[in-house]
Amino acid sequence: MSSFKTLDDLGDVTGKVALVRVDLNLPMNGGSVTDTTRVEASAPTILELSEKGAKVLLLAHFGRPGGKRNSTMSVSMTLEAVEEVLGSEVMFIPEIQGPVVEQSIGILRNGDVGLLENTRFWPGEEANDADFAAGIAANADFYVNDAFSAAHRAHASTEGLARILPSYAGRAMEKELNALESALEKPEQPVAAVVGGAKVSSKLAVLENLVGKVQHLIIGGGMANTFLAARGVDVGKSLCEHDLTETANAIMEAADAAGCTVHLPYDVVVSQEFAANPPSLRTCNVHEVAESEMILDVGPQAVEALADVLKTCRTVVWNGPMGAFETEPFDAATVALAKTAAALSAEGSLVSVAGGGDTVAALNHAGAARDFSYISTAGGAFLEWMEGKELPGVAALTV
Ligand code: ADP
Ligand code: MG
Repeated sequence: MSSFKTLDDLGDVTGKVALVRVDLNLPMNGGSVTDTTRVEASAPTILELSEKGAKVLLLAHFGRPGGKRNSTMSVSMTLEAVEEVLGSEVMFIPEIQGPVVEQSIGILRNGDVGLLENTRFWPGEEANDADFAAGIAANADFYVNDAFSAAHRAHASTEGLARILPSYAGRAMEKELNALESALEKPEQPVAAVVGGAKVSSKLAVLENLVGKVQHLIIGGGMANTFLAARGVDVGKSLCEHDLTETANAIMEAADAAGCTVHLPYDVVVSQEFAANPPSLRTCNVHEVAESEMILDVGPQAVEALADVLKTCRTVVWNGPMGAFETEPFDAATVALAKTAAALSAEGSLVSVAGGGDTVAALNHAGAARDFSYISTAGGAFLEWMEGKELPGVAALTV
């Protein structure tokens, strides 16, 4: 992820047509948008181009229409939300290439913003068809990608266009790439990775990549159970992937060989039923979990030890909650560790980068999100980056 061009590299763009890939896959409820975070993320890019006098054409997918027009997935459903965030009128253009787009560009004044129809209405988008991309590019002067969340897909609007037009990272993309670089590519050492969540199977590649890159691998959540079981601990009726014992052992051996310390909890919070504040709730050593109990959170002693680990680190990258944080009191470890990371970040001694759908929710729940150095809202793309994969949308921007 060396060098990519940014909006700073643009010359005079007055009257030029910019194709700007954004993330408008907004959460909806009954036809109205419930959260505009993704629009807000790209607003600085759109407004900057608009202020510089470009004609800005927004490109985005919405849902999974599967290469066909589908009126229930028109990107026009996001139009009002986009206008509200930008504070200006946006012209909806119900096509993506051809004469309608050309005529619309003729109507747009310099600085105006247009919204093109759902890229996934055309099969060429997901097929990354070169002719399809060329048809879109024909109406534009340059391409800006501001949707890191879609960068793990090699689609026409995320990758193909960057191969045809002069290409730039938007401000949100630039921020994300810089944050990721400071977390795993060129981090200040020592680095800790916190990996939690439900299952090892969904994050195998993440763990395999991290053991070679970080000094401390902190494993919590349901996935810690699989590692504990692999070490011979009886985890009772905890969520546990017993078929992954060998895999877990292989990861611990790889960590050993790479000089990475794997941290597993030695005390845990358990109960016999999964409910809020259950009567059978107790904290115990991992070796004392009963047949009828399940591990639902990391215990307080382990949390204290993990906080001490973070205090010795300069960088932490975090994906996955430490426990079943949606249900009280199994949010305690996640909240405590998140607060420690947040406080160290606010103090300036730790660079903290986190991502993942439930992780973001958990950090918000802990009131820790604001003090983290960077929080990625890109679920799939963030995980693929943590797996060490090259993201096609990012690679295409790299010069
Ligand atoms: P992310 O979306 O941030 O990548 P995941 O989807 O992998 O995170 O994991 C989040 C889920 O893991 C949460 O719903 C949480 O309840 C669950 N979880 C965490 N710890 C446990 C546990 N000990 N037992 C069962 N589920 C757990
Ligand atoms: Mg999740």
